[in-house]
Amino acid sequence: MAEPQRKGELLPEDVGTDDCLTSYTHIYSPDLLKDQVALITGGGSGIGLRIAEIFMRHGCDTVIASRNLDKLKEVAKKLSAVSGRRCLPLCLDVRQPESIAAAVDETLKEFGRIDILVNNAAGNFLCPASALSFNAFKTVMEIDTMGTFNTSKVVYDKWFKDHGGNIVNISATLGYKGQALQVHAGSAKAANDAMTKHLAVEWGPSGVRVNTVAPGPISGTEGYRRLGGPRGEAAGAFQSIPLQRAGNKTEMAHCTLFLASRVSSYVTGAILVADGGAWLTSANDVSMLLGYWSSEKKRDK
Ligand code: NAP
Repeated sequence: MAEPQRKGELLPEDVGTDDCLTSYTHIYSPDLLKDQVALITGGGSGIGLRIAEIFMRHGCDTVIASRNLDKLKEVAKKLSAVSGRRCLPLCLDVRQPESIAAAVDETLKEFGRIDILVNNAAGNFLCPASALSFNAFKTVMEIDTMGTFNTSKVVYDKWFKDHGGNIVNISATLGYKGQALQVHAGSAKAANDAMTKHLAVEWGPSGVRVNTVAPGPISGTEGYRRLGGPRGEAAGAFQSIPLQRAGNKTEMAHCTLFLASRVSSYVTGAILVADGGAWLTSANDVSMLLGYWSSEKKRDK
């Protein structure tokens, strides 16, 4: 997706759909992750897909894991075709530790190692707290927070504990100011940010680094569409962001690559906010967002 580009700003390539890049210019050495293996939850779409692609373009083999195996198989073929690396699609639900354990066993059987875990799987939607069901809140906590803990623990127990490794969690900035209509995702990601630090402290001595990327609004994603990104963009809402534009998926993949690779070898427990400065200046106007939410609900009907 073409982002408005300003003087002196060179953005990395991206496409707005769940497809691979049509061209790519390396910033880091193409060998940065040579022969490493990364497990990426939610790697079949959006930001997770682009993380898988950029890792593979740096010599990494990947496992992309989520619930929809047919979609993953299709994406894995595309990823291998553009990068020449292996991509194994595996079915798991991050809420079910047994399904994660089976996927990790399969990964170790196929590749013999895991170097990087990216906890990217999540669910989100806009909803005011007053209209949010108990079940909806619980489901987001289960996918985003419990899912991150479950996957980290299984990978740690089965491999990282004895071999070290890198965990990168994909978070959000929603909790920083208490973003309206996002109590579920904001709370879940805030818990994950704390978890990043707890696990960094406990697992550092085993050679495990644990870090987080916190994206702002990222174009060409389901999250962006669901959370009103295109409408906000059309209404000029991004003018109030210091960098005056949405981010792109390749930019998030580059941040993840930084934290997952030896470039950041002395960094752990860190949260890299990659939002163009958005959370510092974006609107958090409940009545405006409620108006948007009810008009979208009417449209759905
Ligand atoms: P997306 O395309 O909707 O990706 C979410 C992925 O999670 C999907 O591939 C989905 O695959 C997987 N998933 C959902 N529930 C799962 C479960 N129970 N078990 C396993 N996998 C599951 O979203 P995205 O917008 O690219 O977001 C990716 C990450 O970035 C998320 O952590 C999100 O919170 C964060 N983020 C995004 C934005 C943005 O603007 N897009 C902003 C801030 C933060 P299946 O359906 O196949 O399971």
